[in-house]
Amino acid sequence: MATTIVPGAVTGLQTVTHYINGQFVAGTAGRWFDTLDPSTNQPIARVAEGDAADIDAAVRAARQAFVSGPWPRMKAAERAQYLNRIAGAIDAHAEEIAQIEVRDVGMPVTQARSAAARTGENFRFYARVIETLSEEAFRVGEEFLNYTVRKPVGVAGLIMPWNTPLMLSTWRIAPALAAGNTVVLKPAEWSPLSAVKLAELIDGVGLPQGVFNVVHGFGETAGAALVTHPDVQLISFTGETATGKIILANAAATLKRCSVELGGKSPVVVFADADFDRAVDATVFGIFSLNGERCTAGSRLLVEESLYDRFVAAVAARTAQVRIGQPADPKTELGPLIHRDHLRRVRGYLQSARDAGARILVGGDDPPAPLAAGNYLPATLIADVTPDMRVFQEEIFGPVLVATPFRDEEEAIRLANDVKYGLAGYVWTRDLGRGHRVGQAIDTGMVWLNSHNVRDLRIPFGGVKESGIGREGGHYAFDFYCELETVHVALGSHPIPKFGVGH
Ligand code: NAD
Repeated sequence: MATTIVPGAVTGLQTVTHYINGQFVAGTAGRWFDTLDPSTNQPIARVAEGDAADIDAAVRAARQAFVSGPWPRMKAAERAQYLNRIAGAIDAHAEEIAQIEVRDVGMPVTQARSAAARTGENFRFYARVIETLSEEAFRVGEEFLNYTVRKPVGVAGLIMPWNTPLMLSTWRIAPALAAGNTVVLKPAEWSPLSAVKLAELIDGVGLPQGVFNVVHGFGETAGAALVTHPDVQLISFTGETATGKIILANAAATLKRCSVELGGKSPVVVFADADFDRAVDATVFGIFSLNGERCTAGSRLLVEESLYDRFVAAVAARTAQVRIGQPADPKTELGPLIHRDHLRRVRGYLQSARDAGARILVGGDDPPAPLAAGNYLPATLIADVTPDMRVFQEEIFGPVLVATPFRDEEEAIRLANDVKYGLAGYVWTRDLGRGHRVGQAIDTGMVWLNSHNVRDLRIPFGGVKESGIGREGGHYAFDFYCELETVHVALGSHPIPKFGVGH
């Protein structure tokens, strides 16, 4: 039940509040911040700015719901019913959710529609998994039966980034709830709108009060308060590697279990025998979809020397034709970046490439004049990039692809691994033995062989090195969102050593 809050009425903007204990509420301090349309940089909503007091209120509600509410005690099948109802509500509002992400994030509408469909599926999938999740029993001869039970952990703090916000958040919200935890979600400050839509939908299906809460606000205040709150048992964080390190350090004082999904600089390794056309298609889509703001983007193109010029020329031709435009236009392939500050950062990388002597083959310039008010950057391809350059090493998180040649398999693997990240990798070759070999030699959490990024919800998702710790996705999510308790049962009269009976 949404309540009308004055600041929105005064400014004419949509007002976005927290959702705490089943109520849509303004923050205790009464502060607000604006969220901007990335295609115009005009404010589109006024958002409640949460602080430690709001986080505390949400955590207390979630704790109460966990300790004495029905949610953790329900049968899995009953929780699954709620999840399916949430999925149904999302499906019924999928177009509205897609349009919210278009306006708030600048996601091209066709891609936002796919993300919205996946958002509902996240709930439906975890409803299925929780209903079929088994626990284990261990017989120890005739003496013992040991068995494990999966228990919810408690209050889950979920701290989310601004790229594909609702789709990514629901990867975590759905398993966290399915396992019987209660949730406090802190959405990214640059993309707050879809989270409150989800809260409305969840409110509509009658989830018990306090089970799901949303607090908006900035990372250093609201986010940090969630991480240090003593009544939060686990933190699932998705965002930048630098932030992940701060979160792990801050979570140590209260010894929280953390899952951190961080940045990436994923290689696309193309051998001379690859299916040329499919590899070009996947390369171009893999970097420029979702405006290049994708953690698993194939952002480093490594091509075997003998194919390098021809392949890079083909990718360049396609890059030049990637259609940049208003995200609401179904023909648009590349929309604006999320924020002016982010655009500035991405442009800084282009300058660093120029300074280092790389060739900007396509893009890197200003967008067409009608798009000047937004945060647009045309699809950009930089060639002849060497591993010492910042554009090779660092995550740009925008529509920028860098290309580097390699001599042989050994050098391909070395270049692929020569970064601090290890989230995803893509390998293109018709030699399947080599494909498996190289795929396994690349130090990443996930590799796609002769494929672009198609993700079945059952697979574990996560990275190695500075791309993160832990795996979510599939049933693996329940290793994180559940506490495993073992019960040891004596079936007979096993011998017990007798101390203190004298000799
Ligand atoms: P970010 O780290 O700036 O922010 C992410 C979230 O953390 C936001 O909600 C922010 O408010 C919060 N935050 C910031 N400082 C905090 C602090 N001190 N304590 C608690 N919370 C804090 O990341 P971003 O710019 O929103 O997202 C882009 C990054 O996310 C990229 O690096 C991208 O690769 C990564 N990402 C990773 C995955 C993955 O699954 N590996 C998926 C999507 C995005």
